[in-house]
Amino acid sequence: MPTVTTWQNIADQGRARDAFARTLAADRMPHAYILTGGSAHVRRDVILAIASAINCPVALQQQPPSADACGRCESCEKFARGTHPDFHVLTGTGASGQVAIETVRDMIVRLALLPNEAQVRVIAVHEATALAGPAANALLKTLEEPPARTLFVLATAAPDQLLPTIKSRCQRLRLAGREDEPSNEDSARINALAERILAFCNDARDPTEAVEPASDLAAAVAEKVGETKNAHLLVIEATAERLADRARAAALQHDTAAARRDARRATAALQWHFSMRVHNAHPVLATETLLGELRDPL
Ligand SMILES: [Zn+2]
Repeated sequence: MPTVTTWQNIADQGRARDAFARTLAADRMPHAYILTGGSAHVRRDVILAIASAINCPVALQQQPPSADACGRCESCEKFARGTHPDFHVLTGTGASGQVAIETVRDMIVRLALLPNEAQVRVIAVHEATALAGPAANALLKTLEEPPARTLFVLATAAPDQLLPTIKSRCQRLRLAGREDEPSNEDSARINALAERILAFCNDARDPTEAVEPASDLAAAVAEKVGETKNAHLLVIEATAERLADRARAAALQHDTAAARRDARRATAALQWHFSMRVHNAHPVLATETLLGELRDPL
C-alpha cells in the first residue's frame, strides 16, 4: 500500500515543519501559502505533507496538533493513493505550459460548493509562475475573497516572478535548499533518468529488441521528477553532459561517426533546454520531442 507523504519523510525541512506546526497549533492557518526554496520535488512533497496533515483527524486531535499526518486513517489513505476528492492540482497545458483561464474558472465554480469530505480542501499549484495573465487575475480575485475551508498552496522556484498582489495575500513558507539545487535524492533520480535516456539513444541496439516509444520515456521522466520546468531542465542538462562526454570518448577512439551523432544529440538537448528555459516550451512535450530527435539524430 502506498504511504502518505509526511514531513517526517522529507529530509532537511525541520525549520519549515516547525513553522507549519506553530501555525497549526495557534490555529492560524492562512488561506494561502507560497512555498519557496527546496527542489521542485521537495516542494511537491511538502504540499502533500501539509494537505494530509490538515485533514488527518488523528493528527488534529493531538495537543498540540501534529504536523505529521497519521498515515493510517481514511483521509491519509486517500492522500496516499492520490484519490482524495478535495485535493486539486492546477496544471499548465499547451506549448506555453501555462495554466489556462478555463482551468482556473472551473476551480472557482467548484469552490462555490463546500468540500466533499475534507476538513480543508487544498488547491495546489506546483509551479505558480505557470499562472499568468487572466488566469493569475482570476486566482487573485479568489485569494481576495477566500472561500471557506480552502487552502491554496502555490509552489514556485521563482517567487520574484509572481504578481506582488498575489504574494501579498499568501503566507510564505521557506524550504531549505536553494531553489535550483536538487537534493541528493533528486540528483540520484535525475542521474538515473539521464542514464536511461542515454541507453534509449544507444546506436548499437539489437534490431529485434522492442524500442521504448519516446512518449513512454517522456511520461516516465514526468512521473519521476514531476512536470515542472526546473526538474526537466535538470534532466536534459544531465543528458546533454553525458552525450557530450560520450562524443568526446568516441572522438578519442577515432569513431568519427559516433562522435558526430552524439555531438548532434548533445546540441539538440541544449537547444531544447534553451527553448524550455527562455521560450517556456512545455516541459513534458519538449522532452518528448527531444527524445524523438535523440533517437534519430539528423
Ligand atoms: Zn491520518
